[in-house]
Amino acid sequence: MHAHANLVEEVRELAARLGASEALARVARELFEELAEPFKGCRKVLCVQPHPDDCEYGAGATLADLADSGVEITYLTLTDGSKGTLDPSVEPRRLAEVRRREQERAAQVIGVSKLIWLDYPDGELPYSAEVRRRILEVIRGERPDVVMSPDPWLAYEAHPDHRHGGLLTLEAVMFSPLPLFDKGSQPHSVKVVVLYYTARPNYFHPVDRTFERKLEALKAHESQFAATWQTLELYLRVLAAAYGGQAGSTYAEAFRVLPTLLLHASALSELV
Ligand SMILES: [Zn+2]
Repeated sequence: MHAHANLVEEVRELAARLGASEALARVARELFEELAEPFKGCRKVLCVQPHPDDCEYGAGATLADLADSGVEITYLTLTDGSKGTLDPSVEPRRLAEVRRREQERAAQVIGVSKLIWLDYPDGELPYSAEVRRRILEVIRGERPDVVMSPDPWLAYEAHPDHRHGGLLTLEAVMFSPLPLFDKGSQPHSVKVVVLYYTARPNYFHPVDRTFERKLEALKAHESQFAATWQTLELYLRVLAAAYGGQAGSTYAEAFRVLPTLLLHASALSELV
């Protein structure tokens, strides 16, 4: 009780000097240590991706680093990737098969333990209760400490699979502890979500040791990147160098970390 009284006084004084938003952001960092160390004590990560390649593109070097330190990594791929081509002669079902094999090879490079596929048609992931329930079932089955997904609030994200997939994943994380949702499966609380493809990062993971492995894993997605590899590699190096500059390393990947408690009705979620 005494500690709470101190906190109330502390935030009032901070707010008088810095404004309420900055004061709340600072206090949130004290209350939620996972904001500074989202993977501390983590044994299992579920990384959700709209298409085969997103986990590696958005977070591959971090995932490789976690896998090396013994964290179990599962990928949940929401669509079959069957329309990701500029070549009109490609048969979608054939492309889906190619991309599945590419994803298996890339996952091996990263050190992923398990691949789960929902196989919705590429570009047609519905924003629906059905998809949310299927993601919820995977969360309750896998029981991860951390769930990763694309940031659905990336302002100019035009791909519906990314917007829908990100939102539905966060909704599933929020419902997962509540037993009356999808009755029958065992409720599970995820501690923290880590969003990749974000323009509002609040956490930088140094990846000097594993950045080249991210590139190697991405090269396995030949159908996606072979034609534009040089441009892509430069973009990823520039991005990781900018985040590294901020993080004090050569390379880093950037994420928006949100404690699960902040995923609903919280004034803190935008401030942290
Ligand atoms: Zn994608």
